[in-house]
Amino acid sequence: MIDVTVVGSGPNGLAAAVTMARAGLSVHLLERADTIGGGLRSAEVTMPGYLSDVCSAVHPAALASPFFRAFELRERVRFLVPKVSYAHPLDHGRAGIAWRDLDRTAAGLGVDGRAWRRLFRPLVDSIGGVVDFTGSQLLRMPHDPIAAARYALRVLEYGSGLGRHIRFRDDVAPAMLAGVAAHAAAPIPSLSAAGAGLLLATHAHAHGWGYPRGGSQAIADALAADLLEHGGRIETGVNVQRLDDLEPSKVVLLDTSVRFLAAFAPLPRRYLRQLQNYRYGAAIAKVDFAVNAPVPWSNPDVRHAPTVHVGGSRREIAQAENAVRRGRHPMRPYVLLTQQSVLDDSRAPEGHQVLWAYTHVPLGSSVDATRVITEQIERFAPGFRDTVIVSVPTTAARLAEYNPNDVGGDILGGQVTLRQLVQRPVLSTKPWRTPIPGVYLCSAATPPGPAVHGMNGWYAARLALRDVFGITQPPRLGIGE
Ligand SMILES: Cc1cc2nc3c(=O)[nH]c(=O)nc-3n(C[C@H](O)[C@H](O)[C@H](O)COP(=O)(O)OP(=O)(O)OC[C@H]3O[C@@H](n4cnc5c(N)ncnc54)[C@H](O)[C@@H]3O)c2cc1C
Repeated sequence: MIDVTVVGSGPNGLAAAVTMARAGLSVHLLERADTIGGGLRSAEVTMPGYLSDVCSAVHPAALASPFFRAFELRERVRFLVPKVSYAHPLDHGRAGIAWRDLDRTAAGLGVDGRAWRRLFRPLVDSIGGVVDFTGSQLLRMPHDPIAAARYALRVLEYGSGLGRHIRFRDDVAPAMLAGVAAHAAAPIPSLSAAGAGLLLATHAHAHGWGYPRGGSQAIADALAADLLEHGGRIETGVNVQRLDDLEPSKVVLLDTSVRFLAAFAPLPRRYLRQLQNYRYGAAIAKVDFAVNAPVPWSNPDVRHAPTVHVGGSRREIAQAENAVRRGRHPMRPYVLLTQQSVLDDSRAPEGHQVLWAYTHVPLGSSVDATRVITEQIERFAPGFRDTVIVSVPTTAARLAEYNPNDVGGDILGGQVTLRQLVQRPVLSTKPWRTPIPGVYLCSAATPPGPAVHGMNGWYAARLALRDVFGITQPPRLGIGE
């Protein structure tokens, strides 16, 4: 009998598999697609010689993740960390620039510089405590209650919409905060949007926002190499349906959706009802571009930013995001764009670039976002359209076919609301454990939620180690350990 079967090779499935193999157990990892990686794949999406990230592109969460720190990810993958974490162009050539250097950012914000510094300095100074609080379950005592309280109070302030009135006088800082908050695909203002935005903006001034040279696939490859080195087996092209399909194993770790778990094996009615009540949020529609010149942003500082939040003022972004929640496709949407070639010359032939962009759309949408995304970029970078060699759209519906974890094109593994952060997917101090003995859920549909940090897989694997094998010490994950 195998000790451990892992279904799914996203960052969480790989993190769980590595943890189990490092504990000396036999591990068999099964992946439905022909390549491993889940949200960590990179490929020539547009044309040969142009390397795009199929899903995740920018990695603040990976750089800050305690799992990846223990795994010594930065010793295994070459991360490029830019001086500008993100930029936010506004009309008339203006822009907010979030430098990694907090003081430099504040200096660029004029009358609001002091307020920006006061907002972020305490969070940046206690980044370890903030990561601990946000990187686990909300249902536990934080290790650094002061850092947690500082963060939580600011989330309340911005989640209620009060913060921008009491702190800022100009329109640039509020637009920058809306740009990071919109990553959560939640209403603006809301606690979840404020929580995600403040966390991302804190990372921007702390560890920075990293990009693996050559694409996100490098993270998956590093995890897979470690798994193989420690005796694990990986099989691709295996679409698991039911528990009965699997070879007998003592533990099964599911890097899958909640919907998949609900159909995987018979479950107690009460637990099943909680899974059925689990909600999915807004979806995304993505466009990959190959361009023959850098994007001609009106504001020259934006040209140095690998990540750009396109969508204009705070009001415009809030309106667009809230329209998506009402089931509409906004004409002037919020666009999250990365231009990795700004710091990674391995992505495209010299002088050319790859661009990765997505916008939020209603769940299950089959609308091609090429036109609206192009128009929004053109608004802040006149002439952009003429640089495009090829653009390849991926609708929300297509994304859901590509990866069943992205239900309806929701890339966050389920709505990120306060309720679904506490109850992810069920209300429990050990939500990774299912009622089926030995079966654990380890995907982004468990705490601490979405993004590439591997923490969900790490927590689930450590719980299974304790429950099933009586191993209470987490295995060492570093190179040569
Ligand atoms: C377009 C896009 C952009 C994103 N951008 C970012 C970003 O810039 N930064 C960031 O931090 N995060 C980003 N994310 C989110 C991030 O990718 C996810 O939060 C993360 O990948 C979730 O990891 P996971 O291991 O839980 O699941 P996934 O990465 O979704 O992996 C799940 C894997 O399980 C496999 N699987 C599912 N069901 C089965 C089955 N029945 N049998 C076998 N295999 C199965 C799937 O094929 C998939 O490979 C993005 C996601 C998308 C889609």
